[in-house]
Amino acid sequence: MSHFKRAEIVVDLAAIRHNVATLKARLEPGVKFMAVVKADGYGHGRAEVGRAAREAGADWLGVATLDEALLIRTAGDRGPLLCWLTVPGEDYTAALEGDIDLSAYSVAELDEIEQAARSTGIAARVQLKIDTGLSRGGARREDWPALVERARKGEEAGWWTVTGIWSHLACADEPAHPANDLQEQAFREAVEIARQAGLRPELCHLANSAATVLRPSIHFDLVRCGIAIYGLDPAPGASPSDLDLIPAMTVRAQVAMVKRIQAGDSVSYSWLWTADRPTTLGLFPAGYGEGVPRNAGTLGVDAEVGLNGARHPVRGRICMDQFAFDLGDTQASPGDEVVLFGPPAADGTRPTAQDWAEACGTINYEIVTRIGGRLERVYLDSERDA
Ligand SMILES: *Cc1c(COP(=O)(O)O)cnc(C)c1O
Repeated sequence: MSHFKRAEIVVDLAAIRHNVATLKARLEPGVKFMAVVKADGYGHGRAEVGRAAREAGADWLGVATLDEALLIRTAGDRGPLLCWLTVPGEDYTAALEGDIDLSAYSVAELDEIEQAARSTGIAARVQLKIDTGLSRGGARREDWPALVERARKGEEAGWWTVTGIWSHLACADEPAHPANDLQEQAFREAVEIARQAGLRPELCHLANSAATVLRPSIHFDLVRCGIAIYGLDPAPGASPSDLDLIPAMTVRAQVAMVKRIQAGDSVSYSWLWTADRPTTLGLFPAGYGEGVPRNAGTLGVDAEVGLNGARHPVRGRICMDQFAFDLGDTQASPGDEVVLFGPPAADGTRPTAQDWAEACGTINYEIVTRIGGRLERVYLDSERDA
């Protein structure tokens, strides 16, 4: 009988530390490392991952929203912390009191930040974002000189320090894509414009995980690594072979039921799959209510689970709470451990988040980030628990 719950997410904090240290080893001395823990640490737990990343030498933590940044402070982290997605009316007072670096995309945001600096008497820390081609957040090139000028004036007035200039890549996982050169060039120009306006930010940064491993020329002063600290390949097929990352997340469950079916029996909603010979089905007790994609295995690539040293394909639709997988003629019992995905096994018998991404027509980021729902998350430390 298994010792764990119905179904759970297990996160190995030793893997996080290993991945941060491995990625940091790719950097020139002096380049800072930001561990990106937005979206609850890509589903791994922002506070726990943040703590492990700091232990392994992460200088900065990065998140999207101000709420996430405040939760990191509530969890006790006092180190350098950047957030980059705010909306009008955001509680900048709390940001200043929490010593959180804010990103500004527009003069209107700087106006709001100035109000908070006036009312609290605390000088903000502001990182300006230039849109170099992603066309998402950030100031466009034509709006950049005005943003930079406003930022310089506010710095002189004492409302803030401009601590950084940064941007984000559109195609970092495709190293030969022309966008990479264009964005690097646009970024260098934006930094030069800011320098000419008198700004001297301590940090210029552009690289995400993929650029950290594929494009050292744009490490600048800091790299922002998300997916790679969780041990997943940021650029499957393009990454160097010496990545040496360890996936930190395992999702496992107890087999809920085992049953024999006959040739001609169909499985799950809409009867998408029909057995052409007698076989044994196992029942996995989690489904799209836990973030297992409903389209798994319907796009021509089998989704698989791992059990007793073999892979077994999902059969029929993933349901809200459960799905069936095909044991063939292998033996299994209710209560046996079945793994949805985890770090690769040496013999290939355990599916990975990347395998699930391919079976669902998505990327490994989405697989780990969406997993949750009713699953309990537990932590282990494969180095220290032994
Ligand atoms: C999510 C995010 C990152 C991290 O990207 P990865 O590809 O996961 O390394 C870096 N910078 C910004 C602005 C992001 O939104």
